[in-house]
Amino acid sequence: MKKYEFDVAVVGGGFAGISAALSSARLGKKVCLVEASFMLGGLATSGLISYYLPICDGRGHQLFYSIPFELFMLSLKDGYEEKYPTAWLENGTLEDKINHRFECKFNPNLFALQTERLLLEEGVEIFYGSIVRGAKTTNGVIEEIEVASRTENFIIKATSFVDCTGDASLCQYAGEETAIPSFKNAPAYWYYTNEDGAYKLKQKGSTDFVSEKDALRSDSIHGIDTKELSIYMQGYHHAILDDFLSAGKDSPSHPLATLCTIPTIRMSRKLISKNDMSFDDDHKFNADSAGLFGDWTRPGPIYELSFSCLVGKKIKNLSVAGRCIGNKDLNIWNITRVIPVCALSGEACGVIASLTDSNGDYSIEEAQKILVSRKVPLHVSDIIQ
Ligand SMILES: Cc1cc2nc3c(=O)[nH]c(=O)nc-3n(C[C@H](O)[C@H](O)[C@H](O)COP(=O)(O)OP(=O)(O)OC[C@H]3O[C@@H](n4cnc5c(N)ncnc54)[C@H](O)[C@@H]3O)c2cc1C
Repeated sequence: MKKYEFDVAVVGGGFAGISAALSSARLGKKVCLVEASFMLGGLATSGLISYYLPICDGRGHQLFYSIPFELFMLSLKDGYEEKYPTAWLENGTLEDKINHRFECKFNPNLFALQTERLLLEEGVEIFYGSIVRGAKTTNGVIEEIEVASRTENFIIKATSFVDCTGDASLCQYAGEETAIPSFKNAPAYWYYTNEDGAYKLKQKGSTDFVSEKDALRSDSIHGIDTKELSIYMQGYHHAILDDFLSAGKDSPSHPLATLCTIPTIRMSRKLISKNDMSFDDDHKFNADSAGLFGDWTRPGPIYELSFSCLVGKKIKNLSVAGRCIGNKDLNIWNITRVIPVCALSGEACGVIASLTDSNGDYSIEEAQKILVSRKVPLHVSDIIQ
């Protein structure tokens, strides 16, 4: 079997994985990114979730800097879809900024192409069509991961690993503690049409958060079981086809443009971390903070993302970023699973993965120094006096 060696192996190429790979590569590490599909962006591109939720607190303060901000700007650079943040990018007043949150709607296809170019320019090696399906661990340290593509199996050895699969799959393979929530994900059937020359997103199903009512729908799912996911995708295909055909003879005047190619699952399996984030951590000081995030559902809250919610209790050289980090309950999970926070946790994991030595050890203080040198505010007091 072929064997490849890297300093850092990032598994999963969604927002978290892109950020983690970029973050490590910029520290001079030899980095690979292993992605099951043939496109970067994960849910944000292949799932058509191209709405970069706010990078501010809703009270006029920008919370996200460095890589989450860079990716935000990249998503606008060559053509956004909607919600250009004029108040923030064109000298708006504080009142404008309070009335208009710092968010945007980008083009998913363009963003996938741009992030690929960015990672290649930074020297990241991308393995597309490659699914991680096992990990060999010795004394609480992952030595190598097993990868399968359509045509071969191969091994990747690395000093440290970042699980950005969205489903904590690498954690599961490595024997790290994980949990699957009791609630289920309601279907979200999104697709694009081309109407009179305009590329338009259509949202069917659950467009908001997983409500209790939605979770009780007979077609709601946990999002881990392969058979369940296959049926979910078939339901999606039926719904879109019925929608299109019901438009009748005129439907070819607004042809289908883009379909989701991965299931739109909000929350499936997550890490049980050293110290899960809590909804009550709003404005709470965290000595081991890796950066700030707000609440996309309401103005006001500011959370300090703790490094200890990104690492588990068993495996030393593994960190977790994105929508499957350690969260105490559904409310905080609903806040941390969104694009800007996935980018934030990705950057933080990229830094600790780069600092990790062959025993799986690293220093949080060193990691914080690097983030501060990248202008990441770590504490609420850094932005509000
Ligand atoms: C219906 C819905 C609506 C949403 N709306 C918004 C919104 O409006 N704004 C917002 O900010 N957020 C929204 N979100 C949340 C947000 O889109 C996602 O949580 C976020 O994009 C997740 O990023 P990620 O990198 O953690 O994971 P993902 O995007 O899930 O990426 C994981 C990647 O890992 C790959 N992968 C998985 N397993 C393996 C493996 N074993 N080997 C190799 N590769 C693997 C996958 O192919 C995928 O590319 C929404 C989510 C859903 C489902």
